[in-house]
Amino acid sequence: MNTFSIAIHGGAGTLVKGMMTSELEAKYRADLKNALDQGYTILENGGTAVDAVEKAVQVLEDSPLFNAGKGSVFTATGSHEMDASIMDGKTLNAGGVSLITGIKNPVSLSRDVMEKSEHVFLAGEGAMQFAKELDYKLEEPSYFYDEFRHKQWLEIKDTDSFQLDHATKKDSKFGTVGAVACDQNGNIAAATSTGGMTNKKWGRVGDSPMIGAGNYANNKTCAISCTGSGEFFIRGVVAYDVACLMEHKNMSVQEASNEVINKRILEIGGDGGLIAVDTKGDIAMPFNTEGMYRASKTSEGKELIAIYK
Ligand code: ASP
Repeated sequence: MNTFSIAIHGGAGTLVKGMMTSELEAKYRADLKNALDQGYTILENGGTAVDAVEKAVQVLEDSPLFNAGKGSVFTATGSHEMDASIMDGKTLNAGGVSLITGIKNPVSLSRDVMEKSEHVFLAGEGAMQFAKELDYKLEEPSYFYDEFRHKQWLEIKDTDSFQLDHATKKDSKFGTVGAVACDQNGNIAAATSTGGMTNKKWGRVGDSPMIGAGNYANNKTCAISCTGSGEFFIRGVVAYDVACLMEHKNMSVQEASNEVINKRILEIGGDGGLIAVDTKGDIAMPFNTEGMYRASKTSEGKELIAIYK
């Protein structure tokens, strides 16, 4: 049997010590552990990597602590526009959605795009129409209301600034979520979900729903989910770049992930991190920020839940 493993993240960024109470940290750890365990149980029971990453991301989307699903940040008009994607490394099938509203679990809609449509990427109204045809129930805006996020937004509302959840700002809070997994058959998958940037406008879309930028999986190399300054991660085609370094330069998942996060993305001005897994179940979780909410578990009995370096 192949070593199986799962890794998850809840966003990378600046975390000012002192803003984090031990009570809050315990909550983050508990929600990370819950997502990790639910994804891991699927793998342990012989389930697929795709099922495991979808489940882990759903659990993180349901937590108000992370900038995805329930905890999504506010846009310039006071709404929540969410982006998500998923990719199956065995088949190279993929699905992405962007600018969707009212959907409790955007990752599941991206999976439906992958499995129930002829397409890879659906956006905005069209994506909502697709959800409607699949009988998705829409949540009221109150479901997505979070006092902290609202405060974050009020501070920059009616200005031209927008703010990444992990921006270098005193009260910045991390956000975007993701999962990568390797199942018992050595198949890998990746999923990513986000509310994007506070006060974003003009239909801004980051790297998270873009296959190759914020999310990628290919059984030839690795499965990756990113978090960070989306505009730079798109320009750096970060997730695919890691896979390319493995494929064409024979790097390990650890070497390739480090090269991209601690060198290449920094060179073009980006910051953030990623989680990656290969088909042997080896995991890498580099980040070039102060911290990244992250957790991992392997069938060899290794488990990690961490926030800071
Ligand atoms: N990468 C995400 C975006 O640009 C944000 C994040 O990772 O927090 O939308």
